Amino acid sequence: MLIEPTDAGLYCAAGGFHIDPWRPVDRAVITHAHGDHLTPGSRAYLCSSASLPLVVQRLGAGAPVSSVPYGEPVTLDGVRVSLHPAGHIRGSSQVRVEHRGEVWVASGDYKRSPDPTCTPFEPQRCHAFITEATFALPVFRWDPPDDTVREICDWWDEMRAAGRPSILFGYALGKSQRVLAELARCTDRPVYVHGSLVAAIGAYRAAGVPMVPTLRATEEARGRTFAGELIVAPLSARGSVWMRRFGDHSSAFASGWMRVRGARRRRAYDRGFALSDHADWQGILDTVHQTAAERVFVTHGFTSELARFLVERGVDARPWRTQYEGEPEGLERQSAEAEGDGE
Ligand SMILES: [Zn+2]
Ligand SMILES: [Zn+2]
Repeated sequence: MLIEPTDAGLYCAAGGFHIDPWRPVDRAVITHAHGDHLTPGSRAYLCSSASLPLVVQRLGAGAPVSSVPYGEPVTLDGVRVSLHPAGHIRGSSQVRVEHRGEVWVASGDYKRSPDPTCTPFEPQRCHAFITEATFALPVFRWDPPDDTVREICDWWDEMRAAGRPSILFGYALGKSQRVLAELARCTDRPVYVHGSLVAAIGAYRAAGVPMVPTLRATEEARGRTFAGELIVAPLSARGSVWMRRFGDHSSAFASGWMRVRGARRRRAYDRGFALSDHADWQGILDTVHQTAAERVFVTHGFTSELARFLVERGVDARPWRTQYEGEPEGLERQSAEAEGDGE
């Protein structure tokens, strides 16, 4: 086993490094800057050049982080390691590990749909592939993002005509910036954002990602009405005091979880947009196929479901227990499965 699951995370003994460890280790290779993949306290970090600003934002200035461009190999204790685009959020990487002719690839989180904020996923041929399974059920099937973005623009237009604020919730890092970039295709109107999104928006802008103009929905907006405006906010802002300033509004959630429409979700939000930063069912199967891997290990999400499906088709696949969380704030597994047949 070139890479194995341990109590601290995925471990490559030959190279003396962990991939996305959830405990502090000597040497951590990082796929992307989401909290469940980037734990502080390790003695050294390696990430892609594109994710460096986001990794430093999370770990703090002065953290022991070095970076490498996509596709450029580094050698760790004689093991060849390279990072390749995963298409999940800006800078997200697959980790390719090569040792004595054997190639293993850890996907981190990934998606196959186009995203204006990051480099598209590049399939890597390998002997063993470690994949996520956040949305690995057949019910999860994404529409082209263009269509979903059009639905978001239409919803905003509708609310603007009605003079109501529209509040769009999404994950703070990655999803929010992607929405702001996608919206640039249908508008140049400014969008209000929650203060917790500002630093990452700045990092995306500094990297040259075109986005709609943004205004912070705090100081700049004091005493004004938000009638007809669009506000992008993290899930943590739901039900907070910060929300009071908007008064009567329409709320929506941008997440792959909105593909399954259950009663609880309809109550929670006025609208749902199935815009995901993870691969859908077919995207995962296509990817596994493209790697030509003989062995597949499944780390988080619907792990046993995906492993079972692959085994039935003759692939040597098994779930691995990890502490990665999948798409945060989604509803629990049982309800996603139970509601799956409503599609
Ligand atoms: Zn992630
Ligand atoms: Zn993840």
